[in-house]
Amino acid sequence: MTVKNKKSSILRTVFLDRDGVINFDSASYILSWDEFKFIPGSIEAIARLTSAGFRIFIITNQSAVGRGLITTDVLFNIFSNMTRAIESGGGQIDGIFFCPHTPKDGCDCRKPLPGMILNATKKYGINLDLACMVGDKPSDIKCARAAGCGYAILLGNNTISDASHDPDLVPDIVLPDLKAAANRIISRLGKDLPRAKEPAL
Ligand SMILES: [Mg+2]
Repeated sequence: MTVKNKKSSILRTVFLDRDGVINFDSASYILSWDEFKFIPGSIEAIARLTSAGFRIFIITNQSAVGRGLITTDVLFNIFSNMTRAIESGGGQIDGIFFCPHTPKDGCDCRKPLPGMILNATKKYGINLDLACMVGDKPSDIKCARAAGCGYAILLGNNTISDASHDPDLVPDIVLPDLKAAANRIISRLGKDLPRAKEPAL
């Protein structure tokens, strides 16, 4: 991405992956609200982003639906409880986009494909140059790049060495958690930080 002027580097929309970003992920999927555990600091981070004026959308693969492990009713119940808890903490989620399919389904929405972000962009008129994706897997970064997001943050103890042969898997920065990501995103407000000048990963 080439930053042509100061304004174009100001981020206004944040796409958040759910599992591993907002709540702890599970290899056996999150199948009920009882299994949904917020990562410490994530509610506060979303509240900070909301207060700073960002629109926030959740972009999440939920193949447990396609695998028959959870119904959409239960998934919506989890979303609803999650949203309520976030709102109680002062945050706001502007929209939730989920992919219910399995890898075998051949859909165009399962990350790393960009379908969910593109749907959100169409529906809400998002300027992707001014959007940031936050995820905990390289597939989140690839999705962000495929959609054309201006900035992409990878969370956790990820290293990018395995992915370095594919530039679409390389994030702008790796940070430990959503709290750190929110601080980073907010600190970019009004600052001219083209990708080429990011600190070394
Ligand atoms: Mg995840």
